[in-house]
Amino acid sequence: MLKRPANNDTTGLAVYPGRPHSLHLASLTLPPLGPRDVSVKVRRVGVCGTDREIIEGKFGTPPPGSTELVLGHEVLGIVDAVGGDVSTISPGDLVSATVRRPDTCPSCLAGQPDMCQSLDYTERGIIGLHGFMADRFVDQVDFIVPVPASLEATAVLLEPLSVVEKAVRQAGLIQRRMAAWHPKTAVVLGAGPIGILGTFLLRSRGLDVFTLARTPAPTPASALVTACGATYVSIRETPFRELASALPNIDVILEATGHGPLAFDAMDLLGNSGVLVWLSIIGGDDQSPLPFASILRGHVLGNKVTVGSVNSGLEDFTAGVADLATFERLWPGLTESMITHRLTLDEASHIGEAVIGSVKTVIEFV
Ligand code: BGC
Repeated sequence: MLKRPANNDTTGLAVYPGRPHSLHLASLTLPPLGPRDVSVKVRRVGVCGTDREIIEGKFGTPPPGSTELVLGHEVLGIVDAVGGDVSTISPGDLVSATVRRPDTCPSCLAGQPDMCQSLDYTERGIIGLHGFMADRFVDQVDFIVPVPASLEATAVLLEPLSVVEKAVRQAGLIQRRMAAWHPKTAVVLGAGPIGILGTFLLRSRGLDVFTLARTPAPTPASALVTACGATYVSIRETPFRELASALPNIDVILEATGHGPLAFDAMDLLGNSGVLVWLSIIGGDDQSPLPFASILRGHVLGNKVTVGSVNSGLEDFTAGVADLATFERLWPGLTESMITHRLTLDEASHIGEAVIGSVKTVIEFV
């Protein structure tokens, strides 16, 4: 049980970045509400792999002048106050928020911080700004995303879904290079929350989806994949190369494993005119031998594209809101069942440990 500090504006779950397993409850003073600000009472925050890396001391930067960083970048909350110039959002509205805040590079100035060119951005709960794992937060209205009340049960998944929305949007934008492109077959590498949401999204667009993960079925992830009509494949039972040789042309691959050899196999196994989106990064300096000749020949002669994608913009959150409703219509209750573990803030000392069988852990605020 974590100890709550007394007498503060809000309590947040924080770490001392760089110091492994330093989770504690921190006392926070909220900034005064500016004219374009929105104050949000937090309802639920998701925990993801990035949070775990920050807890392990591998990643994360505190805000200037602080040694602590409040975690959390997957948020759902209820507006409790708005500044004088805010007219689009009112107290009582359900909202989420984007993660990245701009610097002064051309992309950021053009309103596209997820495409930041100088990499001096900040990110709430990750780099240089406190996150949302607190009773309350304040942010500018431009970064607040309205959520219909009907999506209360699932919208804590909006941020990871927005990351997938951006990846699929990037793939679509790039493929406009083709006069005709009608993707039919997709492979999703990884069955964590990103892989599962990617599976849902590609299935909802009518593709045949093969989702690959290590552990043989049945697992909670394999059940989710199968329930939306995709095929779950354990690479222990059927290696990716073997599967690929039995599939038609692989038009789209979303890579979300953080496993270098698979990320590069994907370049080699991508079908003609296909697009591969890398969503994960790997630490260390992995030196695995690669099938360079085959990758180059395939990419050049097959006009293939490999692209990296990170973070997401407001339009991806908006697309995510629409798609959460689509998922609910197609597969009632399925998206919510991704949330396998719910903790209170005081119980959150466990969130650094990957819980066996967990798909998504959330912290519930009361
Ligand atoms: C978040 C992204 C963020 C990235 C890198 C991910 O967990 O979902 O929004 O850009 O971490 O910090």
